[in-house]
Amino acid sequence: MTVPATDVPIDPAPLHADCALTSQGWARDVRVTLRGGRIAEVETGAPARPGDRRLAGRALLPSPSNLHSHAFQRAMAGMTARRGHEPDSFWTWRKLMYRFLDLLTPGQIEAIAALVHVEMLEAGYAASAEFHYVHHQPGGAPYDDRAELSTRIVAAAAQSGIGLTLLPVLYSHGGAGAQPLSGGQLRFGDELDGFAKIMDGAARALAALPPDARLGAAPHSLRATRPEQLRELAAAWPQAPLHIHAAEQVREVEEVEAWLGARPVAFLLDQTGIDARWCLVHCTQMTPDETSRLAASGAVAGLCPITESDLGDGTFAGAAYLAAAGRFGIGSDSDIRIGLADELRTLEYSQRLAHRARNVMAAPGDSVGETLYRGALAGGAQALGRRSGALEPGFWADLVAIDTGDVALAPLRPDQWIDGWLFAAGDRVVRDVWAAGRHVVREGRHIRRDAIEARYRAALADLTGAL
Ligand code: ZN
Repeated sequence: MTVPATDVPIDPAPLHADCALTSQGWARDVRVTLRGGRIAEVETGAPARPGDRRLAGRALLPSPSNLHSHAFQRAMAGMTARRGHEPDSFWTWRKLMYRFLDLLTPGQIEAIAALVHVEMLEAGYAASAEFHYVHHQPGGAPYDDRAELSTRIVAAAAQSGIGLTLLPVLYSHGGAGAQPLSGGQLRFGDELDGFAKIMDGAARALAALPPDARLGAAPHSLRATRPEQLRELAAAWPQAPLHIHAAEQVREVEEVEAWLGARPVAFLLDQTGIDARWCLVHCTQMTPDETSRLAASGAVAGLCPITESDLGDGTFAGAAYLAAAGRFGIGSDSDIRIGLADELRTLEYSQRLAHRARNVMAAPGDSVGETLYRGALAGGAQALGRRSGALEPGFWADLVAIDTGDVALAPLRPDQWIDGWLFAAGDRVVRDVWAAGRHVVREGRHIRRDAIEARYRAALADLTGAL
C-alpha cells in the first residue's frame, strides 16, 4: 500500500502563554514563534500581539516523546486479567499475546495504531517510537510488500499527526541460544537480509510523513537475536536510533547468562558498544554494577512502569540510576493504559514502595514531578532521535498546554504544577498538543478522534472477547 501524504496542517500562528516551562525554569508572558514545525523564537516577558494564539489560563510546556510502544497490544487490554489455572506471569501473558496477534489483519493493525496515537496525543505525548515486530502473515509468509505492516503504522501516523520514530524489529530466534521460532513468533521472523528489505520499505513509507518522522532499528532482544547480528545491524544503519529489550524478566536473565556467560545488560555494555544511540528498554533486572555502568554509557534506559507493573517484571533501580546521572525516558509499551501522568507517577510510586520512602526520584530541594518530566523530555528525545523536548529555537514544536485553572492545580504555584498534574489531576489537564507544530489536540480532544475511533470500533468488531 501507499501512504497518502499527511493532511494534518501545521499551525503557523505564534503562541502566547501566561506561563511556560523554559530551559531556565518557569517564565511569564512567553511568546513562541513557529516556522515549518519548528520553534523559531522564544520571547519571555513579551506581551501578546494581534494574531497570536492566546493560551489564557494555560501553561505551555515541551511535550515528551513516548519511547516504547507495541500499538497492537492496546486492543487486547482488558482481555488478560482473568486468573489462569497455572500461576500467571509475563510468560503466560506472552502466550495470550501471541494468540491475539495471530488474528490481526493489516487493516486492524492500522486502525489500532491510529487510536493508540490519538490516546497518546491526548495524554500529552507529541511523539512515539513504535517498536514494530509483527511483519508477516500468520504462519510466517511475507506479504507481497514485505514492509506492509510497517507501512500500516506509518499510515496511522499520517492520520493522527503524531511524531513517529518507526523502529522495525529484527527477530530471528524463539529464545536464548538461537532457538527456532514457533507459533505466533513466525509473524516476526527475519534474518538481516529480509530485515533490510523491511527497512527499505519503511523508509519509503516514512517519506510520506512530515520531516520530523524518523527511522530507527530494533534488534528485539538478546533472546531473539544473535550477538553478531547486533553489531552488523548497528554498522549497517549508522544513523539510526537503536532500541533493544534488555532485561525484563529473571528467567530471561538466567537464560542469557547460561548461553552467553554474562547477564544481558552487562553483555550489551561489554560486547555491543552501547552508547548514546541506544535505548535499553526494560532495565528491571540489573545489578548495582550494571546500573552504574548503564548510567555512564550515555544510553537511555527505557522505562515502562505501567506495563512493568502489569506484567510483574520488577522494579527499576531508580534512585541509584538517578544518583549516577543516568538518562531515562518513559514508554507505554503494551499500551494497556496510556497515561503520561500515570506512567511517571507509577515510576515514582514503585520507588517509594521499594524504599519505604517518599520523594525518591529527585535531588534534595527539587520537585519530583519536574525532575521526572524533564528527564522524560530529554531521554525521550534522545531515544527517538528527535530534536525536541525544550522550548528552544530549532527544536521541533512538540508542545503541550495544560489547564492551570483545573481545580487540582488552582492552589499551586507554577513550580508545583507538574506535581499537581502527575500526582493529583492526571491527564485531564492536557488541553492542547502540537506535534512538530501540528495542532492535533484542542480542548483536550484529538481533532480526528471521532473518525479514528469509529474506524477502530468497526475494525475490531470481529475481535470482541478474542481471548
Ligand atoms: Zn516492549
